[in-house]
Amino acid sequence: FEDKISDENIINFRKEHLGKGLSLSYEKPLHIVRGEGVYLIDIEGRKYLDTVNNVNHVGHQHPKVVAAGQRQMAVLNTNTRYLHEEIIAYAEALLKKLPPHLSVIHIVNSGSEANELALRMAKTVTGNKDILAIEVGYHGNTNAVMDVSSYKFEGKGGFPKPENTHILPLPDSFRGKYSGENCGIDYTNHAAEIIQNLKAEGKEIAGFIGETMISCGGQIVPPKNYFKEIYKHIREAGGICIADEVQTGFGRMGKTFWAFQLYDVQPDIVTMGKPAGNGHPLAVVACTKEVAEKFNTGMEYFNTFGGNPVSCAIGRMVLEVIEEENLQQNALEVGGFLIAELKKLQKQFPIIGDVRGEGLFLGFELNDSNKNPLPEHASYLANRMKQLGILMSIDGPDHNVLKIKPPMVFSKEDAEELLYRLHTVFGEDFMVPSF
Ligand code: PMP
Repeated sequence: FEDKISDENIINFRKEHLGKGLSLSYEKPLHIVRGEGVYLIDIEGRKYLDTVNNVNHVGHQHPKVVAAGQRQMAVLNTNTRYLHEEIIAYAEALLKKLPPHLSVIHIVNSGSEANELALRMAKTVTGNKDILAIEVGYHGNTNAVMDVSSYKFEGKGGFPKPENTHILPLPDSFRGKYSGENCGIDYTNHAAEIIQNLKAEGKEIAGFIGETMISCGGQIVPPKNYFKEIYKHIREAGGICIADEVQTGFGRMGKTFWAFQLYDVQPDIVTMGKPAGNGHPLAVVACTKEVAEKFNTGMEYFNTFGGNPVSCAIGRMVLEVIEEENLQQNALEVGGFLIAELKKLQKQFPIIGDVRGEGLFLGFELNDSNKNPLPEHASYLANRMKQLGILMSIDGPDHNVLKIKPPMVFSKEDAEELLYRLHTVFGEDFMVPSF
């Protein structure tokens, strides 16, 4: 058995029999067998502090979430065509966390599926097809969402931009097209221009989809007024505003439960996923009563697994644990401490070009003194941090942004451990670029 599960055998089997596009993290891949709180544990019993996993939101294998799933799984798992109290209890608990104008939810199984449904709603409600989306945005892996995910279609092995998709520049005030105090307006003017041009061709828009903090784009915090202005342009044109909260929701921002609340905007549709089930496949589309009514054309919406009592019991427990363990407040405090300390580290190590984020959704860039991105240094850092027992991930169009989005139980001590190890690696010869 030992031999069967050797890393080499697993790698060979994957290469031969699993999808050819699957990827593995790290030069020497990890073989993880257990999770516990903020830790992942490998086959040799080595513990890694996990700063990557924003899915296991309340901690890996949280005992209460595990028990909630086990309990319901032992009694019944079926679909929404029968009456069941668990879906009501989950919907009630989730709706309490949303502003009152978002009063209807559809429960699905993945972020991709949530965005797929959101796009279909926008298209059905408006009768239009054209969607505005953000450069380097990622909304999932199904056909319709790939069509609005420039991270994918403009990336390696991608395809030309679909005709009905209109891409807005990445609102990155550090490295993007515009910077400065009022660059939010410069970025959003592109939306107005696209809408105008479409109008001139006799076309109307279905809407706009945007991650409320852009993750694959490199933990981008949109500039002031960005979302307010975009939403204004979209609404004036009769479009639907979709907020993708798949990465950012459920208290991670610290200040607010959802990232869109940071900007004081009111999306028509909010999609959520990853953390909703703490690793169990659970995702949700929340929308206004008006959207829900117009989407109801008479065609049944059925989803075999979406809204099953096991998923709902798990989702409800996730919400309970967030509350019980004060995890939003923890994100605010630990995230605030971490960003302040990272800014101090930046003064000491100028290779850190920018530090940004909110709560436990942070990132920092590596670049030289001419602001050239340093992806090899990012890769070196992530691999060295792994050797030192800390998992970090890299993203951004230049592959030079280290992302920090750990389980929400990440403590001040965990943050100190992370900073201590970062300090060590930043002091190594390889990490001194030729300035
Ligand atoms: N939206 C965002 C912002 C995401 O980050 C992801 C997943 N990385 C998705 C949607 C798609 O979610 P899933 O992988 O659950 O389909």
